[in-house]
Amino acid sequence: MTAARKSSASSTPCLRVSSSGVHGLGAFATRDLPANALLGLYEGRRYTAGEIAARQWNDQLTYLFMLSNEEVIDGGKGGNATRHLNHSCDPNCEAVEEYDEAGRLVLKFQTLVPVEAGDELFIDYGLTAEDGSSPSDYPCRCGAANCRGTMLDVEMRDEV
Ligand SMILES: [Zn+2]
Repeated sequence: MTAARKSSASSTPCLRVSSSGVHGLGAFATRDLPANALLGLYEGRRYTAGEIAARQWNDQLTYLFMLSNEEVIDGGKGGNATRHLNHSCDPNCEAVEEYDEAGRLVLKFQTLVPVEAGDELFIDYGLTAEDGSSPSDYPCRCGAANCRGTMLDVEMRDEV
């Protein structure tokens, strides 16, 4: 059965997963990359907003990525190396939404600035707070000079 196994996760040849200088595992560039280089799509099991609301997520939170249409991708299930990018308040990569040929909203990870082979790659998670959670519930230790001290997107906290 292995020969026919369909690979749903895209390859991420520019990424190597290794232990991070910041937290747990991290993703590192395997080669020098210019700005705006595609790292891969954030893949995984998809949930609708309603499915998410009906579940308890607990510590799986770190692999969940909410799209602007409120669909959520769980990179912990069927995801690829892009799920290992850690958060930084001064990131060298970003996540960009776009529609694929099938009209599906996808999340593309790409470099913001040129990076060198071996650099650890980061994005700004910009997490939105759940009801009742505060920025201190998601402490950031990225070490950037402009660190907000939290992985939440504090500018978006007024959004309900
Ligand atoms: Zn930080």
